[in-house]
Amino acid sequence: MSRILHRSLRKDPLLAVSGRGLMVQGAEGPPVIDASGGAAVACIGHGDPRVVRAITEQAEKLAYAHTVFFTCEAAEELAELLVGHEPGGLSHAYFVSSGSEAMEAALKLARQYFLEIGQPQRSRFIARRQSYHGNTLGALGLGGNMARREPYEPLLATCFSHVSPCFAYHGQKQGESDADYVARLAAELDAEFQRLGPQTVAAFVAETIVGATAGCVTALPGYFPAMREVCDRHGALLILDEVMSGMGRSGTLHAWEQEGIAPDIQAIAKGLGGGYQPIGGILMQGKIVKALAEGSGAFKHGHTYQAHPVACAAALAVQRIIRADNLLENVRAMAARLEAALQERFGNHAHVGDIRGRGLFWALEFVEDRASRRSFDPDRKVNEVVKDAAMAAGVMIYPMGGTIDGKLGDHVIVAPAYTATAPEIDRIVERLGQAVDQVL
Ligand code: PLP
Repeated sequence: MSRILHRSLRKDPLLAVSGRGLMVQGAEGPPVIDASGGAAVACIGHGDPRVVRAITEQAEKLAYAHTVFFTCEAAEELAELLVGHEPGGLSHAYFVSSGSEAMEAALKLARQYFLEIGQPQRSRFIARRQSYHGNTLGALGLGGNMARREPYEPLLATCFSHVSPCFAYHGQKQGESDADYVARLAAELDAEFQRLGPQTVAAFVAETIVGATAGCVTALPGYFPAMREVCDRHGALLILDEVMSGMGRSGTLHAWEQEGIAPDIQAIAKGLGGGYQPIGGILMQGKIVKALAEGSGAFKHGHTYQAHPVACAAALAVQRIIRADNLLENVRAMAARLEAALQERFGNHAHVGDIRGRGLFWALEFVEDRASRRSFDPDRKVNEVVKDAAMAAGVMIYPMGGTIDGKLGDHVIVAPAYTATAPEIDRIVERLGQAVDQVL
């Protein structure tokens, strides 16, 4: 009997033993292809000896140093690599241990920024429905994943409100042009600012590409510039959550690079350390750091394990590998192959309503009825059923569902490592096809 409180108390998880590249070996049965990097985490594959070496060397040199006393070389070099050239004006980094911690830090930094510049009334955050920003109470309150929020609703803060995401498959009206849909969403955001009082809003928060809750939902062209304009007009910050979609997964290092805007604060995590160590972080504009420097002189936040030396050394190695091995080029090349293969295999499937994504970040949305885009009954847990069938067929895809009009929408995410080869992409789609045909 396991002494761990596992995710499910009905069924014990498999025991994972080893991983190499895209393959993960359990204690029993043949290896499976990790086609989702777990939850879009393992971005350079498993078992890269260069990262293992970096971790070992750092642990041997210095495993831990508290940031009250010290900074460390690995954290400094990682920050320099990420923001030394000030991409989009982002000039400083702050490292934590997870995506949820990154989002908590983003919220607190935005709040403190406004305190420092003499706008203490700004304490509200507008996020979007069908979003996920993490499971700690602040991040959970910010997010719009109703299934995850529900049990904890009484514990969630009231400073968060939600507007519609840019979700063409479910949100765009028949006959509505892309420009009109974007204008409608910008008007909705503006109306929410007005309802709350524009001077009370600290930030608008969005995933650049919606991950777990809605399944690889990209925004329409013009959406983010329109949202940025609304934020700027009301003096609020734009926080982008790229915990899942960032660090190369979309084909550029940051997903916002393809949107024609830059955020004031950006959260990163999964692809930062590629799963070799738990690490997340926020990147921020120079104006925010300047406000803190000229004000109280410190970010009033902190964790025991922030900027952990071994975690930073692992992330530094992962980020160097992404550059040295030209992996973003491979993401873009394999993205085209993955999209084409998914379209060919599932484009006419009676229960695949939508195939969407960017880079190596794609989702299939399952529907009971394609014409009306009606979701399956949540009790059928279709995403779980597909996941189990896929595991049996030898491929790991990430099952998720969010809340679409009060119902659980089922989707699975395909997010292989940036190192994926053409034969691996083909094998992933073939095995997923077998699994979907078997259960739907
Ligand atoms: N933000 C997004 C967009 C995520 O997808 C996730 C995790 O899936 C998080 C935040 C939370 O990250 P973590 O699970 O590392 O706390």
